[in-house]
Amino acid sequence: MDYYSKYINKLIEEFAKLPGVGTKSAQRLAFHMLNMPDEQVKAFTDSIIKAKSNVRYCKSCYTLTDEEICPICRSDKRDHSLIMVVENTRDLAAYEKTGKYEGVYHVLHGAISPALGIGPNDIRLKELIERLRGDVKEVIISTNSSVEGEATALYISKLIKPSGVKVSRIASGVPVGGDLEYIDEITLLRALEGRTDM
Ligand code: ZN
Repeated sequence: MDYYSKYINKLIEEFAKLPGVGTKSAQRLAFHMLNMPDEQVKAFTDSIIKAKSNVRYCKSCYTLTDEEICPICRSDKRDHSLIMVVENTRDLAAYEKTGKYEGVYHVLHGAISPALGIGPNDIRLKELIERLRGDVKEVIISTNSSVEGEATALYISKLIKPSGVKVSRIASGVPVGGDLEYIDEITLLRALEGRTDM
C-alpha cells in the first residue's frame, strides 16, 4: 500500500540506491529535501548534474578531473618518474593532503576481487603498463591493505617486474582492511617512507 505520493516513493527509492543509505535514512533524506527551500534543492540537483557532465578521467593518471590532463600530471614541479598506484581518487587526495609526496599517481578505480568478479581488465591496469614506456624509475603500490588490495599489489608487481622498473609497496603501518582515506597523514607518510621493494 502506498502511504506517500508516488513522487515521494520514487525519491525514497533513489536515495536508497546510494551506498550506506538504508530505507529509513532514505525516507529521512527524502522528507528533508521536500522541506528544503526551492533554491537549495535547485543548487543541489544542479551540482550533481554539473559534476556528472564535467568531471572526467585524466588522460594520464585517470583521476577524476574537469580537465583533459589533471593539474598534478600537468605540473612540472612533480617528479614524473615516480608513480604511486592508488585504488581511487579519494586515496590520491589523502596523499595529496600530506603535501609531501612529489611524484605523480595512477588511479586504478578499484581492486582485483575474484569474489566480486572484478578482474585485472576491470581496473585501469593496461593504462598503467602503457605509462611504463615513458621514463619511469619507480612504481609505488599504495593499494589498501585489504585482501583485494594486497592481491592487486602482488598482481601489479608481477606484471611490472619484467620491465625492469623498480616496484615498491607502502609499509603496512596501515591497519588491515583500513581504507587509506581514513588514515591520518603521519601514518600515511610513515607508510610511504617505509616502503619496501617487491
Ligand atoms: Zn592526472
